[in-house]
Amino acid sequence: MAREGGALAETETHAAVIPGAPRTRTPELNPFEAVNFFFHRAADHIGLSDELRDVLTSSYRELTVQVPVRLDDGTLQVFTGYRIQHNGARGPYKGGIRYHPDADIDEVRALASLMTWKTAVVDIPYGGAKGGVQCDPTMMSMGEKQRLTRRFTSAISYVLGVNRDVPAPDVNTDAQTMAWMMDAYSGRYGYTPAIVTGKPVELGGSYGRDAATGRGVVYCLEEAARDYGIDLAGATVAIQGFGNVGSWVARLIGELGCRVVAVTDVKGGVHRADGLDVPALWGWAQETGSVVGFSGAEEISNAELLELDVDVLVPAALDRVINEGNADRIKARVVLEAANHPVTPAADDVLQEKGVIVVPDILANAGGVIVSYFEWVQANQAYWWDASEVESRLADRMRAAWLNVRDYAANNGLTLRTAATCLAVERVTEAHRLRGLYP
Ligand code: GLU
Repeated sequence: MAREGGALAETETHAAVIPGAPRTRTPELNPFEAVNFFFHRAADHIGLSDELRDVLTSSYRELTVQVPVRLDDGTLQVFTGYRIQHNGARGPYKGGIRYHPDADIDEVRALASLMTWKTAVVDIPYGGAKGGVQCDPTMMSMGEKQRLTRRFTSAISYVLGVNRDVPAPDVNTDAQTMAWMMDAYSGRYGYTPAIVTGKPVELGGSYGRDAATGRGVVYCLEEAARDYGIDLAGATVAIQGFGNVGSWVARLIGELGCRVVAVTDVKGGVHRADGLDVPALWGWAQETGSVVGFSGAEEISNAELLELDVDVLVPAALDRVINEGNADRIKARVVLEAANHPVTPAADDVLQEKGVIVVPDILANAGGVIVSYFEWVQANQAYWWDASEVESRLADRMRAAWLNVRDYAANNGLTLRTAATCLAVERVTEAHRLRGLYP
């Protein structure tokens, strides 16, 4: 088991990489094993029983469905879809739906369990779930994506419900996808706007939901900088991913005085040491579908971006991008996990030894599911809040969660990740105990 350093001491040990110092390496694991590795580290700290470990390292329900879709060329393609409900002790299952060729059962399981810890650490009344369809939406037309979404929704609708399981967007899905899901579900069960979150505002979505994950990431940086004494004036930032989360981080992080020097997306990226003109880059990406080719900047690959000598690194795309292969070469002082599970356990240990402050996914990117919760509350009441109310409630919840995690880490000599996981596991196990699910 790797050494746990005091979280508040991490800044001081930032530069202290001792060449040749012994290092406890953890093997690279599949995504579900990796997430459970982080869970067991927290479970060890709180002395969790083997019985509860068995419950919490497996899913409650795993649904695999066939999704046949008629393509535009007239052929039929059969996709595989999943909805995995990890734990529901604290409330309805909650979590996104991703469309990606790598969305296999291990990945979706891992992401479902992360949702359990995420909703618990920010203390919103949900369990954890995730869904996915193994497909490449970049190769599909809008019509094909709509048919896929409707068929998939219909196939999983038996396990959904406003008080049972509430999906949301994730990688390669968006407000339009949620509108189709809501419509497909409502066609069968009657008008049900609270069945999904992340819908368009016109259909009962919440103001501020699209920016929420990015905004939450930025709040975490602001708090971390204050607590660890980092000067953000002119601090350099590299962002991997320019989808919903990465692009909002890029657009908002300047408010803290930071300079975005590099951005990549799935096609490649751009780097400018003096800082990128983010609004212009956003416009360019909207127009062309990628940040690649933006004028006045040098080209950079996804792998190179991660290893840039920047103050803040924001992996905001896919999982396991920081791993045993590159962790030694990460130079950032702060890593904000805007993506889910971007750092493997082996890499996490290396970053810790280098003194890098890692704000874990279950805290850093929780702004999205927090505003999903607000959206669900509003839709259940059929009464909508204005944008400023959403934003101030999000800020309050993110900051409260940050303080909880920071104090837990400092008081117990843990990393932010282990502290956040301990807090979450304690809340979930307490819910199990109170509900009396076990003899
Ligand atoms: N997909 C997002 C996440 O991983 C949002 C989930 C939600 O809002 O339910 O946190």
